[in-house]
Amino acid sequence: MMNLDVNTLFMVTIYVEAILGLLLLFAWAQNTQLYAVAWWGFAHLIRAASIVLFGMYGSAPDLITIDLANALLFTAFAVTWTGARVFDGRPVEPVYLVTGAVIWLLVCRLPVLADAIEIRAMIASGIITAYTWLTAYEFWRGRNEQLVSRWPAIFMLFAHGALFMLRTPLVTLLPWSTSNLYGSVWLTVLSFEALLFTISIAFILLAMAKERTELRHRTAAMIDPLTGIANRRAFLHEAGVMAKRHSANPRPTAVLLIDLDHFKSINDRFGHALGDRVLEIFTDAAQQSIRATDLIGRLGGEEFAAILYDTSREKAVVASERMRETFARIAQDVGGRPVCATVSIGLVHCEGPVLDVPELLAQADQALYFAKENGRNRVEVASLDMIMQRQIREIAVSEPALPPPATQSAA
Ligand code: GH3
Ligand code: MG
Ligand code: MG
Repeated sequence: MMNLDVNTLFMVTIYVEAILGLLLLFAWAQNTQLYAVAWWGFAHLIRAASIVLFGMYGSAPDLITIDLANALLFTAFAVTWTGARVFDGRPVEPVYLVTGAVIWLLVCRLPVLADAIEIRAMIASGIITAYTWLTAYEFWRGRNEQLVSRWPAIFMLFAHGALFMLRTPLVTLLPWSTSNLYGSVWLTVLSFEALLFTISIAFILLAMAKERTELRHRTAAMIDPLTGIANRRAFLHEAGVMAKRHSANPRPTAVLLIDLDHFKSINDRFGHALGDRVLEIFTDAAQQSIRATDLIGRLGGEEFAAILYDTSREKAVVASERMRETFARIAQDVGGRPVCATVSIGLVHCEGPVLDVPELLAQADQALYFAKENGRNRVEVASLDMIMQRQIREIAVSEPALPPPATQSAA
């Protein structure tokens, strides 16, 4: 069925394994924190070495071409598995890393099994399947991290492991087998599959590492590092998504603008580090007071915003009051210091068909201004009156100021 000469296949496989190993090490050199990629690179190089030894079958002692070659091969799979553990932050297991090779070398020393080629082949397959499935399992354990390439990796590893598991029974069951496993057409088929697998898995693992780096960069650009919530950019982006959803299915929505009271004085009295702690405490209090589906972000400094979707005016006021009260209660005492931090909240409620977030934030800002004017630690709801006052002020600002009296001299 296949006219591929096994020797050619061996040469190609050695070359491909070595190139893939170097490729992965090169990728690691560009981002040395990705230790897993280095492990995977070494796995390919070790496999290349083991295939070199297999290729010497007949011209070198079996101790090297079978015993040692297999021990190296199993170590290569164990190294890939270790890379998968390292990839998801789990420790290296030095004992299990060499268990496969050690079991194999012990088996080779057993006189009973010296001529039981099929049993030895079954043990060899079992070791490879064990490491391959363990690798798939490690990736499965880390599935909470949203990496798309995790899934093809798990599938490929599972399928490859299953094929090795079935190898020995298939060899004895199927008609093309000859008495000698190492000379059968099966060797060609399996070598070819191994070649395709090694190429695919190298690229999938590299894609996973790259995908993670990109995911981390994306997250870093969107998450405020101190509080762990959306930064201004992410908040406005999410708000835009919400506005689109709103235009398809308008729901009453509340926009909150929140500013900590006398925060400068808190920093001055208790230090900047405690100020940071207060910002974290506020984030907790705010998240406790709204639903998980509501949007909250840190717009900058000690200013936050929230959008409560599908929320009546009454419910929004209740949530805002709850946020204000919860924070005032838990920020009374911070690490044993009488901080008594509070917030002022400006709220605007929108029932129209368009969610114009920048405009709503401007109106909430107006309400916030009144909350500060009226004594802080309070919630103010934007009213038509406030909006009128703001517009009047904007007109006043945009109109040119009166020129100074001509009679004034620079005396
Ligand atoms: P008001 O009640 O009128 O809002 O007074 P305020 O002192 O809170 O307002 P102001 O805008 O004068 O001061 C804000 C302060 O917030 C000044 C700045 O040092 C502090 N601040 C901004 N970002 C951070 C931060 O990340 N950590 C800490 N600790 N302080 C911050
Ligand atoms: Mg403030
Ligand atoms: Mg402020």
